[in-house]
Amino acid sequence: GAVIGILGGGQLGRMLSVAASRLGYRTHIYEPGAAPAGDVAHQVTQASYDDADALRRFAESVDVITYEFENVPAASLDLLESIRPIRPNRRALAVSQDRLTEKEFLRGLGLRTAPFANVETEADLPAALAEIGTPSILKTRRMGYDGKGQIRFRDPAQRDWTGAASVLEGFVAFSGEISVIVARGADGAVAAYDPGLNLHEGGILRTTTVPCGLAQKPVTDAVLLAAQIVNALDYVGVMGVELFVTPDGLVVNEIAPRVHNSGHWTQAGCAVDQFEQHIRAVAGLPLGDGRRHADVIMENLIGDDMDRVPELLGTADVQIHLYGKEETRAGRKMGHVNRICR
Ligand code: ATP
Ligand code: MG
Ligand code: MG
Repeated sequence: GAVIGILGGGQLGRMLSVAASRLGYRTHIYEPGAAPAGDVAHQVTQASYDDADALRRFAESVDVITYEFENVPAASLDLLESIRPIRPNRRALAVSQDRLTEKEFLRGLGLRTAPFANVETEADLPAALAEIGTPSILKTRRMGYDGKGQIRFRDPAQRDWTGAASVLEGFVAFSGEISVIVARGADGAVAAYDPGLNLHEGGILRTTTVPCGLAQKPVTDAVLLAAQIVNALDYVGVMGVELFVTPDGLVVNEIAPRVHNSGHWTQAGCAVDQFEQHIRAVAGLPLGDGRRHADVIMENLIGDDMDRVPELLGTADVQIHLYGKEETRAGRKMGHVNRICR
């Protein structure tokens, strides 16, 4: 059978591996660090993204390369791509690896983003604060996740620095946050799941609820703009599109060129979940249609939430996913539960 190579061995790579196995594929994970996905993948390479020999052997051992981690260095991707196709494509990665190019791309499609200014170095901060004002958020352009590398500005005289090239974003007074998990197949077909309502705590996703409770109009707008994004990128795979809901319409927060934490509810809500959908797309199979058969609340198990596992195991209609991470740390995603509500 075909072998799917996955860059990144975290929980997303782990759940992709399970989905691939179910469809009869083998997976080969490439991960520089300790890999929760390692115990379910068929093969694991633990090597740095600078290790050209390891990258070459990895690429030669697989039929197609995908990723659960979007910050793979460009030089490593060049090498991999000279050997096997990478899906989703390089442009999707280049656009989303850097919050500045991402926002410029979204604006170029006519979509709304938060007001933003490039803060290349600390010296650019006063001008950016004068332009964007407060409240605002300084975010590192690259590598940030779970709210890491972000500083909130309440006062234009405040002087804090993230330590790396950043963007300053005006604070969006949203009434809610939703996300669309959208997929595009190798044949160009697009399928989207129902948007979920996301609650964050301390910059980390806490829960996703479907249905999201919004009227039909913003729901349709959200799905259409997600489709516009994947079509513009000639994208193949699953993408997460995070949106702010405001009285004037939807504002795009960010896009993730991979399966997304806010799509974990699909494991309990849909016959074809986001992980299978992604594998179908990168393997060139037809997509599932995204239909939802249940109402679901997904809750992340973060740090000490693991203490609640015994109780959750005894609760009806709760599907538990544990990532098998060796060490529990505050703020670390250890697992999630899908509570089926109907
Ligand atoms: P992840 O990739 O894990 O979703 P991240 O580190 O890329 O997180 P963001 O999604 O940019 O972080 O921000 C995390 C959360 O902070 C958002 O979901 C939102 O709740 C809040 N936030 C971020 N930017 C803004 C903004 N411009 N206005 C208002 N709230 C914001
Ligand atoms: Mg992000
Ligand atoms: Mg986010």
